[in-house]
Order: sequence, then structure tokens, then C-alpha cells
Amino acid sequence: MIGCTCYVCSSKSEKDKRLRSSIMVQSDTTTIVVDTTPDFRTQMLRENIRKLDAVIFTHPHKDHIAGLDDIKAFNFFQKKPMDIYANALTQEALRREFSYVFSDKKYPGIPDITMHTISNETFMVGNIPVTPILVYHLQMPVIGFRFGSFIYITDANRIDETEKEKIKGSDTIVLNALRKKEHVSHFSLQEAVDLVDEMKIPNAYFTHISHQLGTHEEINNELPPNRQLAWDGLKLQF
Ligand SMILES: [Zn+2]
Ligand SMILES: [Zn+2]
Repeated sequence: MIGCTCYVCSSKSEKDKRLRSSIMVQSDTTTIVVDTTPDFRTQMLRENIRKLDAVIFTHPHKDHIAGLDDIKAFNFFQKKPMDIYANALTQEALRREFSYVFSDKKYPGIPDITMHTISNETFMVGNIPVTPILVYHLQMPVIGFRFGSFIYITDANRIDETEKEKIKGSDTIVLNALRKKEHVSHFSLQEAVDLVDEMKIPNAYFTHISHQLGTHEEINNELPPNRQLAWDGLKLQF
């Protein structure tokens, strides 16, 4: 956290250097990024990403959309608009916060996008099936996603029983867990552990971690087997 001198922010461990939450999902032919955080550019450069087929958004909060402008590099090299998938709520925020992208009078070099609306139905991006899972961030609807046996849910603290059905039978989940103390709109660490146990998901990684949670090493030592903190650059293969 900017300006913070706590032991987590001062940790020398690479696993305690946390950029904003985002994932990339790749098949043999298709690459998707979930959310363009303020760190999107840094993350794309770090991972040396040359091709991106689509961005899908979870919700309109600034820490999940602010990096959208930087998709223009992919426009430039791929010579085509970027496919964007978002629900109506997120589209409204994108139109407001990136008004120049949606303006009738466009100037050269700005992002070029093709907007697609996410409903509650599974959709295909290239050869990757994407199943939206409706979750709640206090009152705000947020979209989690299932890709085969992998689930990504960020910025949630409630999931209705019907949507939980979509999570069942998965192998691995990346789920938000902000800190130990309860929070109004994020799962606490214990709530996140309880949910993955209830859903009987074999492997769980926790993300969207606050510096208030503790260090990677300290918290991982407390967690049960196959439940651990995610870290920047974590790669999973299915
Ligand atoms: Zn701190
Ligand atoms: Zn967030």
C-alpha cells in the first residue's frame, strides 16, 4: 500500500509484492484476460504477452477497469478491435470513465473495442467456454467465471445457492479473501476457506489480499492443506 511501512508492505519476499487482482486464461489458440487493473500494462509487460483475444470484466470498480486504455497496444499489433465482454453495469462505467473510446469523434491511437454483453449463459471466446457465475460484492452484482474445471471469483462476499451449483465439481478455485477481520463486501480468510470446504473444491488459492492479512509465508503456514495464498505470477495448468 502506498505510504505504508507495515511488516507486510516492507517484506523482502517476492510473494508479498502484490499488484491488483487479474488473471489470464490461455488455451492452445486463445488468450483472455479477466479485468484490466491499473497494473494491466505492468502485468502484460512482465509476462511478455504478444497476443490477446479478449478482455472479460467482473465488475466496474476502478481497480478492475482502470487499465483498459492500454489494450491499444494490442490493437496496434493485431490490427483489429479488442473483444470486450461485460455486463450492463460494467459497460455503463466503461462508457463513463473511457468516454473518448466511445465518442463519435475518435482521434487516432485510442483503444478500439468491440463490446459484447455478458448474460447468465455460457459463451465461447475462441475455443474457451466461459460460464458466468453471479456473486455479490455487498449489493453489487459481480461476475465470477468458470473455465472448465477452474473457477475465478474476485470481489465477492455472497453467492446464492443456485449459482453455487455452477461451482460444484470444479478442481481448482481462485477466490477473494481480503484479510482475517470480516469486511462488508469481501470474504474474510475464514469465510473463503469455509466456502471452498463447503463446495468440496480440491484446490484453492486466495487472492485480492490486503496487507492487513499478513505475509505469504506466515498465512500459508496457518492454512489447511491445498488451501493457500495465490501470488503474482502463479501459473496453473489443466
Ligand atoms: Zn502495509
Ligand atoms: Zn477489487
